[in-house]
Parts: sequence; C-alpha cells; structure tokens
Amino acid sequence: MRVRLRNPDRTEQVPGPSTVAELLDHLDVVPHTVLVLHAGELVTADRHLPDDAEVEVRPVMSGGAGAAPRCVVCRAPAVIEEPRHRAAWCPSHFGDHVQAQVRKAIDHPPGGERTARMFSYADRLLVAVSGGKDSLALWDVLLDLGYRVDGLYVGLGIGGYSSRSQAICERFAEARGARLHVVDLASTYGYTTPSGATATGRSTCGVCGLSKRYVFNQVAVAHGYDVMVTGHNLDDEAATLLGNVVRWQDDFLARQQPVLPATGGNQVRKVKPLYRLSEREMAAYCVVRGIDYVVEECPLVDGNTGQELKAALDLLEAGAPGTKAQFLFGFLDRHAAWFAADEGHAAAAVDLRACARCGMPTTTEVCAFCRQRERIAAVLPIVEVSA
Ligand code: SF4
Ligand SMILES: [Zn+2]
Ligand SMILES: [Zn+2]
Repeated sequence: MRVRLRNPDRTEQVPGPSTVAELLDHLDVVPHTVLVLHAGELVTADRHLPDDAEVEVRPVMSGGAGAAPRCVVCRAPAVIEEPRHRAAWCPSHFGDHVQAQVRKAIDHPPGGERTARMFSYADRLLVAVSGGKDSLALWDVLLDLGYRVDGLYVGLGIGGYSSRSQAICERFAEARGARLHVVDLASTYGYTTPSGATATGRSTCGVCGLSKRYVFNQVAVAHGYDVMVTGHNLDDEAATLLGNVVRWQDDFLARQQPVLPATGGNQVRKVKPLYRLSEREMAAYCVVRGIDYVVEECPLVDGNTGQELKAALDLLEAGAPGTKAQFLFGFLDRHAAWFAADEGHAAAAVDLRACARCGMPTTTEVCAFCRQRERIAAVLPIVEVSA
C-alpha cells in the first residue's frame, strides 16, 4: 500500500492488505489523532484495504498552531511530544505508551509466527544493566509488567564511571527488592576494558563488547536463566543496521533481529524488547518514572563507531521524523523473506561447538573470549582469578 502522511509530508510503502486499524498500528499512529482516507473517502478502523491501496493519513490534532500540546489520551497538558507518533502525552499516559510498545515487542516480535512471543511469564529473564537509561528503564518496565526478571551488571573497570554505574544499579535493585548479579572483569578475569585494550592493541569498545557478550551468556547459562534481555533501543538498532548495510556484512544482517533463538548447548535466547522505542523516549521514561540513571556517557565512547552512524541517522530524522523507524522496521518486515530460505546463513548459525578452554559455544576451537584473555594474560602481570 502507498501511504501518504502529513506534517511533514512523506510517503511510505506498507505491506498489505490490512485493515485501517492494523495499518495505523503498523505506523505507530494513535488512531483518534488522525483521519484515514482511501481513494479520497473517509474510512473507519475496520475497513479492509487492498495491497494496492492509496491511503492518506491526515492529522486532526485540535488546538491550533502554537497551542500548548495536550495528551492524546486525557487532554491534560503534555510533557513530551513525539513527531514520529504524531502524538503527545502527559507523564502517566507516556508511561503507558512506553509499556505498550514493550508489550507489543514482546507479544508480536517481527519475523515469528503471530503467536511466537519473545518470552512468557514462565521464563526466567536476566536483563543486562549498565546503569544507563535504557537498561534500567527496561528492567523497570519488565518488573512492572510482572515478569520474573533479575539484573546483571558487568564491571568494566572504567574508573569513576564504572563505580558510579554500579552504585546506581545496586540502588535500583535494592529499592525494588530485585536480584542483581555483579561480575567484575578485573577480579574475575584479570583485566579491565582499558588494560585489555592496551594489552591486545584492540579498540576499547571491541574488548568491552566481546567481554560483555561473553559474560552475559556465561552468567545466564550458569544460573539457569531462559532468556537474556538487553536494552538496545530503536536508535541503537537503526545505527547497527546502517553500519551492516554500509559494510554489507551479510552474516550480521542475517542475525540482526530482536529475537535470537539459542541454536545449541550452553546458550540462551537473546531478545531486545526496546527495539520499538527511541533513546529520547527511554530518557523521558526514566524522568517521568523517577528512575535515577547515569546521565554521563562512557568516557571511552569516542572510539565507538556507532556514534557516527547515529549522528548520520539523526540528520535524516530531523528532516523527516519517522525515518529511523521506517528504516529499521522496514528491514525487519523483509528479514524473513530475505534470510529465512538462505541455507548458508542458517547452517552458519548452528555450526557451533564447545570451546576447548571454557566450554561455551563457538565456531572455532577456542572461543574469541578465551583467545582475547590469553593475549591479555601474555602481556599483563599475572593476576589470580577465578573463571
Ligand atoms: S562506549 Fe565502548 S568502552 Fe564504553 S561501555 Fe560502550 S562499548 Fe564499552
Ligand atoms: Zn494523559
Ligand atoms: Zn572459551
């Protein structure tokens, strides 16, 4: 279907056929803020639209230009507007909006059967928390929705930034009576992110990312969790997608999904329930919910190439709100058709064996984490550690 949206004027291609209600849901448009026209005539929510429909979604927010925005639900003064949703909310209904987006991601992730959820209330979840807005907001939402979810903080040894982040995670967990696992890289594995980068000559973000991915899976397996949950948001995922497309990393594109099933032993399912929500929405959620989070950036973030990709997407988003979501969701809509039948990618995904050193899944004799650790140990002073 060809859908024309207004303020700003733009056109989107949306897979059809669908009802008007399904179309608005797909576009993340709050139904009572718009009129929908098909072939020049008004249509209601239950109307079926054919695959070749030409549709216009016209905003009807009252109040006039320049008027203070009001909540789309209760008409109280709004505290946040989201041009992408063409909507504004009061604090309480903004919290509901964020929770509804997480609920939608959990219950209807892209690519799966309509009934295949990210996880159920029977699953034990482990959420990776950094002390930043996304992961703490996610933990808050999941606890509020009633899931069985514990936290995991990985101490990266990045000076005061790490100690402040850990303290914030500990306070969050304590205030909610939730369980927080803490794994300190230095005391457990004998290196910090900066010292590991110096020892190996790799980027700090490279050492950091590999270490975190390993520890997340290792702790989830060791403690019998069913699902590993991370706070990657819409901006993170759109930037990753742009990087994967720019460099044409087919294997990464094949694996870029909000749900990655476990494909062998010593692995858990990995999910990203915030993929529908922007950085800005997550920061605003923390403010309206009174969640204390580390506002400062990691001091090593300059080495992170994701920042440049985010800046490029921000430019596009400023010109046409909704571009990031259109880019990411459009890719996820097409993902199954592009990759599901690709046996090469499917085979690569399951060709795993146990690491000869640690037993964790790997495609090589010794996993990348153990190889990194050996390279670091060859340079750094020997530290007594327990693996
Ligand atoms: S910016 Fe780099 S070093 Fe800092 S936490 Fe992120 S990945 Fe780790
Ligand atoms: Zn409201
Ligand atoms: Zn290993």
